[in-house]
Amino acid sequence: MNKYCYSCSAPLEMPEFKGPAENYCKYCTDEQGNLKSRDEIKMGIAEWFKTWQPDLDQEKALARAEHFMKAMPAWAK
Ligand SMILES: [Zn+2]
Repeated sequence: MNKYCYSCSAPLEMPEFKGPAENYCKYCTDEQGNLKSRDEIKMGIAEWFKTWQPDLDQEKALARAEHFMKAMPAWAK
């Protein structure tokens, strides 16, 4: 069964995403496997969107990141 990061949906079976935490990718945690803050994750996801869509402005990228995170188990509340 495939596992995905609870915070950003990165596929955890891929070594480049696998980190110290069971349910999160290495980009979403520190070296001890602790989940980073909501704001840090949001910035990271916004940057990730901008790699796909370089002309996306920061405000829109953050709004999309916010929306994206509402679907993630780590952030949906
Ligand atoms: Zn992640």
